[in-house]
Amino acid sequence: MSASEQRVYASEYASSLDGNFIGGQWTRSLSSDWLAVFDPSTGQNVGRVPASSVEDVNVAVHAARDAQKSWAKTAPGARAQALHKVADAVEAHFEEFVALECIDAGKPVSAVRKDEIPSVIDSMRYFASAGRGLSSLAGGDYMEGVSSTVRREPLGVVAGITPWNYPILQAVSKIFPALAVGNTMVVKPAETTPLSTALLVELAGQVLPAGVLNVVFGTGPVVGDALSRHPDVDVVSFTGSIETGRKVGTAAADGVKKAILELGGNTPVLLFGDADLPSALDAIVAGGLYNAGQDCMAATRLLVEESVFDEVILGLKERCSAFVLGDALDPKTTVGPLNSSAQLARVAAKVGGLPDKATAVLGGKAETDTGGYFFPPTIIVGADQTDEIVAEEIFGPVFTVQVFADVADAEAKANDTRFGLAASIFTTHLGTATRMQNNLNFGTIWINTHLVISPEVPISGFAMSGLGTENSEAGFLEFTRVKHVMVDSRI
Ligand code: NAD
Repeated sequence: MSASEQRVYASEYASSLDGNFIGGQWTRSLSSDWLAVFDPSTGQNVGRVPASSVEDVNVAVHAARDAQKSWAKTAPGARAQALHKVADAVEAHFEEFVALECIDAGKPVSAVRKDEIPSVIDSMRYFASAGRGLSSLAGGDYMEGVSSTVRREPLGVVAGITPWNYPILQAVSKIFPALAVGNTMVVKPAETTPLSTALLVELAGQVLPAGVLNVVFGTGPVVGDALSRHPDVDVVSFTGSIETGRKVGTAAADGVKKAILELGGNTPVLLFGDADLPSALDAIVAGGLYNAGQDCMAATRLLVEESVFDEVILGLKERCSAFVLGDALDPKTTVGPLNSSAQLARVAAKVGGLPDKATAVLGGKAETDTGGYFFPPTIIVGADQTDEIVAEEIFGPVFTVQVFADVADAEAKANDTRFGLAASIFTTHLGTATRMQNNLNFGTIWINTHLVISPEVPISGFAMSGLGTENSEAGFLEFTRVKHVMVDSRI
């Protein structure tokens, strides 16, 4: 599809959505309120989805509950086959997903076509198959005269609440493992990015039994909150900010149910003087500007050994300046707009509120002449640990660069944060790399690379970056409960 065809398709698809997908069909919302959807590249309205009510949530959870018993009894191989058919359908609608993801989220079309949708399909394939056989303790006689077996059972009904930065990838990372092991689900996409999830759930509805996968559009405080505290929801799988995660976790705890929380990050990137600087800077800039820095693991908090500071700033500037800021649908664009006017205002306020000692040596000002939500690649020096721009997640294409004196100082500064999602280390010294990987308090540590992710490997947030694990076998196990059965073999 050309850019104009993509815009026509996205707005036609968005206009066709007048309800929630519940029990295998589009169902009119019981609320008369709507959420407008905007194209971040132009600021133009694309369409709308229902701002659903608590009653809509009740209907969807009821449908998921009704479908759960027979879905849980379906053999794992048959569930896998059904999920592969959903992946086939997504592959067959590849260009439609590219269009929706670019227009909804503002992602550059070249990256969405080359990386994002292919990796979404790859994740679907992995999750569809890998849930067929989960590991656990071998059955055996652990006490004399009695035999034990351990069963892994689905938890029941899962609520999936997703963020706007990777709408389809986040939806798939929750839906596929949860369904593969026999749960049913109600998904609520973020307010600003409902479209690709809508198409996914609609296509899945042509393959899966009615009620296995449902979507309810709406706001976090209404639909998200109702899902988190619904007595018939067994587990909430949430990805989003720490502040919202705390609310979701509290609501879930109130009903004594599990919440899997994948929350924010503020990834330290440690660049030692002995690193291969050109390749380190390539990886850092790519990892900082991907998705315009709207990534919980973005490589934007740089800690650089003093001896190479000037060289690093020069290399960063050169590389950032080679990125092309523009309309997400232009194939030349490598940095798209921020996702929403609210996100643009948030990033602009953080950069605009720098303390006097800090300056932007590149970028620093929003570009809104075209109506889109653009913020250019920006490099900030002079800020330190306690300044908001360093201490908090920026979620924009904004690098902060600080210095460290030695290994101990690097380690202390990296760990001095409430976040614990990811860190990266660039060094050619094996001892430094090993000390750092052992001592850093983050769920993912990259050495001489950044932002390389695959569904086989786990993502876990330490500290305030979350609870539980997504992806990998550990991610599957989050959607199961463990039942121990013991038989007295002497009777
Ligand atoms: P957010 O917390 O504002 O919203 C996330 C989702 O929660 C949305 O669907 C929203 O509607 C819903 N929500 C809002 N209030 C709610 C409530 N009271 N109850 C239930 N649900 C509610 O986050 P966001 O701005 O959409 O996403 C950005 C954040 O997500 C960043 O902090 C980022 O780091 C984090 N994130 C984390 C990961 C990870 O794997 N750890 C991945 C992607 C994004």
